[in-house]
Amino acid sequence: MRRTYFLDGCGRSMSEAPVLKDTARSSGREALQKNIQAAMALAGAIRSTLGPKGLDKLLIDDDGRTLVTNDGVTVLETAKVEHPVAKMMINASSTQDRIAKDGTTSTVIIAGELLQNAWQLILQGIHPATVARGFRKSEQYVLNCLSDIEIQCTDDTKYSVVKTSLAGKGHNAMQEVVAKTALKAAEMVVDSEGSIDISKIKLLSQTGGKIEDCRVFRGLMLPKKRISSNMKKEISDGKILLVDGGLEKKNVSTDLKLNITSVGVLDAFREKELALLREQVDKMVQMGVEVLACRESIDDNIKDYLSQNGIQAFRRVSQDDLSMLVKTCNARLVKSITASEINDLGNFTSSKNLTIDGKDFWIVEGDGLAATIVAKGSTVDVVNEVERCFDDALGVSVQLLQAGGIVCGGGAGYVALARRLRRYAETIPGREQLAVEAYADALEVIIRVLAENAGIDPITTLLDVVAEQTNSNSDRYGIDLISSEPMDMFTLGVLEPVGIVKQALVGATEVAISILRIDDVLWAKQDMEMSDIQDDETS
Ligand code: ADP
Ligand code: MG
Repeated sequence: MRRTYFLDGCGRSMSEAPVLKDTARSSGREALQKNIQAAMALAGAIRSTLGPKGLDKLLIDDDGRTLVTNDGVTVLETAKVEHPVAKMMINASSTQDRIAKDGTTSTVIIAGELLQNAWQLILQGIHPATVARGFRKSEQYVLNCLSDIEIQCTDDTKYSVVKTSLAGKGHNAMQEVVAKTALKAAEMVVDSEGSIDISKIKLLSQTGGKIEDCRVFRGLMLPKKRISSNMKKEISDGKILLVDGGLEKKNVSTDLKLNITSVGVLDAFREKELALLREQVDKMVQMGVEVLACRESIDDNIKDYLSQNGIQAFRRVSQDDLSMLVKTCNARLVKSITASEINDLGNFTSSKNLTIDGKDFWIVEGDGLAATIVAKGSTVDVVNEVERCFDDALGVSVQLLQAGGIVCGGGAGYVALARRLRRYAETIPGREQLAVEAYADALEVIIRVLAENAGIDPITTLLDVVAEQTNSNSDRYGIDLISSEPMDMFTLGVLEPVGIVKQALVGATEVAISILRIDDVLWAKQDMEMSDIQDDETS
């Protein structure tokens, strides 16, 4: 099915064709050519960031804020891109980031290469639909082949896999710390069934200090202090109440006029208010609550009563942190203390207050498992890049601990798949065979770009690696970017979770086929720039 894009005057895509008056149109081969050019331009923009020798990009936004990054998806999501087809490519990269966390640059580069190769076939008179069919067949075939080249990850290789995901980001010492810390954090939240909820890992970043000072703590660690130092510093095995409100005097919604007729009326009024707060504390004591966390405030006048009753209390806990506490302690978030019931309470094994490097922290451990990474960096920019590194490293650690399948990196996996695909192409009659070969060529783009970015000849590299894999009958040979020679990537420790390669193949094929199917672009003449196109994949 061919797709058509209809864009209105503001550049928004529409589900139905407007009357074609005042509408500019580019169709057929011209439309396809322009779209492919846009996709290739986008892939070209991030090509130089791929791999350990990839360079960084300096991004400057409208307000002059700057960002230095090597992360493909960050570059793409930050860039102001207006072409709807380029936006489809960015969506593919964002999807890769959401599902597999890593491999975002690879996805876009493969998609760009698929389209470039498709265009060469179209110029030879092959219909885009035939190319799309060939690409789909190739995708299915290589996905099946993944199990042939997959290796099971062992404890010894886990660290190498996580470190590979940080290639090109920061310096070696930072990669080592981030990889070790991320893996440790992920291991802390593996539940009894072997599954991991990544949202149970909190990333707490702090400016100041060295990257080497990054640490991981078991439990949820929040930059909070109990509201009174008279409260217990540490409590073990107790019940926690989480309130999406506060413990404070009620705000009166209408204007209230107090008519003070005798001495002590005001005091009596205040005493009554306090009594209402005390009632709420009494209710918590009855339920056995020992720790209270509120999203809103806790009245200063009730602090002492709370500590007298052995309750450790925290106020102004953010919504996100409360959601994490819900998971850590298997609790339910209640609207108010008055509305709470015993079933809403969570359990903690320990709730302690610590001062680390002069800063106060509250650490909670519960049955629900949690881990907190304290990430440090000398400046805000460094901390932000460390956070992005943790994002990739955590995603990879989680995949690794859950699935365990890995493939060799450094282009080895993609070359191995391309070799198999070429043999498969020979069995396909008709013009689709050419599309399958074009797909195999596109898979080889990764090793070519890795070499290119390291200043090594891409063609020689590819040919040497293919020869080495064939001669030694091993799928593990990729490019060692230091010696410029084909090397066993398993021995070198350049390894990736199979899920990343799988998702990159699916995402790149999907976006390439979607772009090949567009044969008509229409946009209102008054806005030829096609700006602000929000959702271009809906038509
Ligand atoms: P992506 O956003 O696609 O993950 P990266 O810039 O992280 O892009 O680069 C990932 C690629 O770099 C992978 O193909 C990986 O195999 C390769 N790579 C990582 N470390 C090395 C290494 N030491 N030698 C060769 N290739 C490497
Ligand atoms: Mg990566």
